[in-house]
Amino acid sequence: MSEFRQDPITGRWAIVAEGRAARPNEYARLPRSPTPPDCPFCAGNESRTPPEVSAYRTAGTPANGPGWSVRTIPNKFPTLAPDARSPESPRGGGNRRPGAGHHEVVIVSPSHAGLLAELATGQVREVFRMVRERLRSLSREPGIRSTVAFENSGPESGGTLFHPHLQVVALPEIPPTLADELAGAGRYAHRHGGVCAFEAEVAREREETVRMVVDSPKIVAYAPFASGHPYEMRLVPVRHAPSWAEATDSEVERLAELVPRLLRAVRDRLPDVSYNLISRGVPPTAPEARSYHWHVDLVPRAVRPDGFEVGSGIPVNPVPPEVAAEELRERLDHSVEVGPGRPDP
Ligand SMILES: [Zn+2]
Ligand SMILES: [Zn+2]
Repeated sequence: MSEFRQDPITGRWAIVAEGRAARPNEYARLPRSPTPPDCPFCAGNESRTPPEVSAYRTAGTPANGPGWSVRTIPNKFPTLAPDARSPESPRGGGNRRPGAGHHEVVIVSPSHAGLLAELATGQVREVFRMVRERLRSLSREPGIRSTVAFENSGPESGGTLFHPHLQVVALPEIPPTLADELAGAGRYAHRHGGVCAFEAEVAREREETVRMVVDSPKIVAYAPFASGHPYEMRLVPVRHAPSWAEATDSEVERLAELVPRLLRAVRDRLPDVSYNLISRGVPPTAPEARSYHWHVDLVPRAVRPDGFEVGSGIPVNPVPPEVAAEELRERLDHSVEVGPGRPDP
């Protein structure tokens, strides 16, 4: 039995086809990579990367040597770079433009095997603080109109290096997915007296509860109604802001508690599954900033898109989000560190 579902914000469609390909035993797995002696992201090999942009390190240790806990470097093979030139259209315009922008890599720990799902909350908090710092910095660069922060984990995610790292790309354009979200949020606000579409969706999910995975005062996590991927989740901070760059310390802290916990729930259901973690944003001074509400999408890559999905642009999801949410809730561990005075559930 299958069903078309439309995303309430973007208007994009997905097909939920229960049972079509729900064969968890055949889902692709992430092979464990033994430490290669020449991993450029491991502590001690700093000279094999471009010079660091920022690092959280033990006081007194010099840049580009060991002693760091989180380290950001320019991507050696950038999708976009500040000095990009296109000889055909040096000033931009037309259908070819310079690939100008920024592309950085945030190495999540000096240890080769330190998967985000397995790191201590304190380390993940430092990683997410670094992502916020880099997004703030790159959002202020001239000509930047949007940012995408992401993690590729595992071969099915597009990842090429095992050593866990996040990436931050700053673009001179509004990419199509963000444009669809902005257009949808604009339409919704116009019809509903300025109400934020993302907050309306959170309210609806809180009310219906069937797709909710974690409902907490600062950040909620749910399986989106029109999920295109099995066990996909969206984490939305309750407070309105246009980017992770604008997150408060307590939001960063809560995100650092939730993301590894949700990843562990996913991995309990789909052992060693590849995934992407994705967060789009717009600079706070951009005209689009008022209508955008940042969030983090966690997308397990358990099923490869087939010819129909590539050909139609409609993802086919074999696990209804209501089923996914229930299974993920059952698998949540409750080992979240809750500090004094913060009675988050
Ligand atoms: Zn390594
Ligand atoms: Zn909002």
